[in-house]
Amino acid sequence: MSLTDVYRYVDNNQDKLLEDLFRFLRQPSISTRNEGMDECAQLLAEEMKKLGIETKIFPTGRHPIVFGEVGPTNGDPTLLIYGHYDVQPPEPLELWDSDPFEPTIKNGRIYARGSSDNKGQLFAHVKAIEAYKTVFDKLPVKVKFIFEGEEEISSPSLEPFVAEHKDLLKSDLFVVSDSHIHESGHPLVVLGLKGMLYVEITLRGANKDLHSMRAAAVPSPVWRMIHLLASLKGEDGMVQIPGFYDNVRPLLPEEITAAEAIPFDKKELLSDLGITSLLQNRHANDYYKNMIFEPTCNISGLTAGYQEEGSKTILPCQASAKLDLRLVPDQDPDTILGLLKNHLNRNGYGDAKITVHGGFEPSRTPITHPSVQLASEAVAEVFGKEPYIYPGIGGAGPNYVFAKHLNVPCLIIPFAAADQNNHAPNESLILDGYFNGIKTSATLIHKLATTNITING
Ligand SMILES: [Zn+2]
Repeated sequence: MSLTDVYRYVDNNQDKLLEDLFRFLRQPSISTRNEGMDECAQLLAEEMKKLGIETKIFPTGRHPIVFGEVGPTNGDPTLLIYGHYDVQPPEPLELWDSDPFEPTIKNGRIYARGSSDNKGQLFAHVKAIEAYKTVFDKLPVKVKFIFEGEEEISSPSLEPFVAEHKDLLKSDLFVVSDSHIHESGHPLVVLGLKGMLYVEITLRGANKDLHSMRAAAVPSPVWRMIHLLASLKGEDGMVQIPGFYDNVRPLLPEEITAAEAIPFDKKELLSDLGITSLLQNRHANDYYKNMIFEPTCNISGLTAGYQEEGSKTILPCQASAKLDLRLVPDQDPDTILGLLKNHLNRNGYGDAKITVHGGFEPSRTPITHPSVQLASEAVAEVFGKEPYIYPGIGGAGPNYVFAKHLNVPCLIIPFAAADQNNHAPNESLILDGYFNGIKTSATLIHKLATTNITING
């Protein structure tokens, strides 16, 4: 028996593997409006139990967490798979070519809400257990699963759950399959995600809007906001909050090399976006290095004054700005918030009201960690080409929860295509992505047991 037999099982049982996935996709699980959540958790748990995965559903304040484990008791190293079974609402329904909850195969893809984000991708890992056990009879290492139902509503229960169940979740490698492979169809392994601090800053002027003739004598909160915002970032692209870059983790030469190796068509991107140049940043105008390694101070909303059509001569009494600061390792949202407050106090904006709308930490598994080589080998074996290694991506996700509380290396191995349309109408998962996903997960399990690369300890 060998991995070739596992691959053959996947190739010969495509219909059955799809049928089980389709049952899962047919069950709506819309977390924002609590539609079908308990039913979907039950269904997923049943699919896992059928494969001999010891499964338990944990209730939370909102939607249940499905946990499972399978494999030898003393199964070092232990692999932990994360995913989320909740989906975004499918609306607007009229823009779908087929029913979002009736999976439809067309052009080599499965069209359904959740097909790639994230039910289809997580289910590939579940089905890897079926393929592996059918061929080898039992698993060589322990595999644990944690599937939440709150990712699309910012995972409020996940961190408390993980913090409270460290023993249950104890593992040596964390893998999630989310997001997508390279635009060219080339596979990827992603090692990190940015963190975030989201704040709203409000400045008040007079106690009511005034006739604008009074602008000659009464201070304007709008002008003050403009000066405040200008003090945060220079024209050179650098964030000017003192201390902002102090905790940025120095880059490894291998991380820089990996980022430089990601193919990028600058001309196509510029024309795609209708712009003529990219930002100059600390990493010059290198797209991927900036996307991966550069923290941001972005203004995502700005409100003041008369917003309606036509003119109105007023001196507004309030101005507010929403800022999202995307952070890189080892910047910490609480520390950055403190630095921002100090900066505002020192520059005469001590009266600014700051509302924090959210924050979470960045995480990045060092590219030199042995698990990266192991995962790359597994991907290369199935896809037939070496994956690009992204030391990080700009997006957000719950990896930091596991990195922080379980002290475990975290890898993202996507199976979906870049044009998966997640969150949008006609979401799809490439059939190859699903089947290769099952094979990749099984290969990773096999390699964890057979390689002489030590990933734990
Ligand atoms: Zn999503």
